[in-house]
Amino acid sequence: MRLLADVGVDAFRLNFSHGSHDDHKANIEAIRKIEQDTGRSIAIVADMQGPKLRVGEMGDGLELRYGDTVKLRRAEQSDGTDIVHPHVELEQILEPGLILKFDDGKLQVTMISDTEARVDVPGLLKSRKGINVVNKVLPMSAMTPKDERDMQFAMDNGADWIALSFVQTARDVVDARKVIDAHPKAAGTGIIVKIEKPSAVEDLDSILSIADAAMVARGDLGVELPLERVPVVQRRIIRKGRELGKPVIVATHMLESMIDAPTPTRAEASDVATAIYQGADAVMLSAETAVGRHPATAVAIMDRIISAAEGDPILWEYFGQTELPHEGSAEDAISRSVKTIAKTIDAKAVFGYTRTGSTVARISRERPPCRIIGLTPSRRTASQMALIWGTHPVLTSDPTGFDAMAEHVQIIAKDVGLNTGDRILISAGVPFGVPGTTNTLKIDTVG
Ligand code: PEP
Repeated sequence: MRLLADVGVDAFRLNFSHGSHDDHKANIEAIRKIEQDTGRSIAIVADMQGPKLRVGEMGDGLELRYGDTVKLRRAEQSDGTDIVHPHVELEQILEPGLILKFDDGKLQVTMISDTEARVDVPGLLKSRKGINVVNKVLPMSAMTPKDERDMQFAMDNGADWIALSFVQTARDVVDARKVIDAHPKAAGTGIIVKIEKPSAVEDLDSILSIADAAMVARGDLGVELPLERVPVVQRRIIRKGRELGKPVIVATHMLESMIDAPTPTRAEASDVATAIYQGADAVMLSAETAVGRHPATAVAIMDRIISAAEGDPILWEYFGQTELPHEGSAEDAISRSVKTIAKTIDAKAVFGYTRTGSTVARISRERPPCRIIGLTPSRRTASQMALIWGTHPVLTSDPTGFDAMAEHVQIIAKDVGLNTGDRILISAGVPFGVPGTTNTLKIDTVG
């Protein structure tokens, strides 16, 4: 994990569909240690399984051959000839004609009785792979008892973001927010909505307006919706996220061939770059780093693809063309000005003092042509900001006032690699310490 962080990881996703609480705890401790050792803030995303169906333990995997008949059984462990799953809700609806897809739609069977299916799309079915029921709605609520336990665990252990799977309506976000608000240590934990259900796509505006970030969860999205809708929906979610100033993560199959191969396909490289051109804040690897043969290489290659896209002047033309709606707030007035001023004076960085990360997110959505250094005394805000486009979080105490602020920034400017003579901008709410009071923008030069 240290190697992954060194080659470019800003956020680690802990997928609660897999692993025990002990495993996740060890990973959280390892990430926080990397933060301490490197002085870099890293976001921890605790991804809830949600009402996702998965197969049980399939040993070395079951080879499903085209046209074969295979048994389905509710059990934990396959006997080597059958498909097992732990879900009573699935068992109850199995009937002839029902189509099941496995592993993000890579394999498919059609039920021929309540317990037997015919293989339509063959392949190797491995343990814990997802199941999608194509032609029936399952009677399952958005947050399962397992999610509630996992969420409590994630909050007890200081996760920065909770990702909610299979969100269907804004109500699901409201319910999760109540659980966060009731936790004594979790104030400020962000909610990422994973958009993967048709109903969430339909209700996107209201869901995103109350969430803190979104993930284009293309694995399930491409099974739940016709495949050709995925790129269209991806672009829509990224656009909406940018309008609202909420980070958007594009996930799944980004460098899929690197699970085995040491280099990605050209199409995969292009897919990552496309997400960047569209304005994604983050791109995510899943199996490539979780079970792949070249995890660090996959991260390093992704980092190179991102840097190449961000070095393209056309990207900046696209960013400039997007008309963003603005709120009549001082925060938005300052964020808009940052972009114009940074361009005018060729500023190398904007330093944003923030408690909640809100001003930095508003500055970031404008896509200023300079680095964004988010300064905060909150450990959680610092780690959360690692997910926001172009942002380098710095955990630091607030200065005592306006004059102390300029001196404070001079020290940090050197720490983050700026040079004497570099023009910089500083945004802050003076007096310091009150969230939501951004009112000041200063132009300065590194001394
Ligand atoms: C997805 O479906 O694309 C996704 C990111 O979710 P998960 O990895 O939990 O299936």
